[in-house]
Amino acid sequence: MAEFIRDMLQMWFYNRRTNAREMSTYLTTFADEHIKDRTETAHRCEIHPIHFNTFKVDDKWKETTVDLDERSCSCRQWDLDELPCSHAMAVARYASRSFNS
Ligand SMILES: [Zn+2]
Repeated sequence: MAEFIRDMLQMWFYNRRTNAREMSTYLTTFADEHIKDRTETAHRCEIHPIHFNTFKVDDKWKETTVDLDERSCSCRQWDLDELPCSHAMAVARYASRSFNS
């Protein structure tokens, strides 16, 4: 029984390392899919600068406030899952900023 569990764990770690080595993007596949979904909404947002790193964003459904320095949006999505929401993506594109820094 212990030998079976050791073999299974060894295979899991091997597969995980192999998958990680074959990745070609900065983010995981899961995160990339979320970013793609949010990109379409980001293109529909209107940006209104409030301050150098603070912006009001209107996505036609609601208005939010994005703070690039704090990496925060009032919709709380960016704060909770740590992946930029569509509002943050719209602001980053508007301000020519990257999320990777
Ligand atoms: Zn947001």
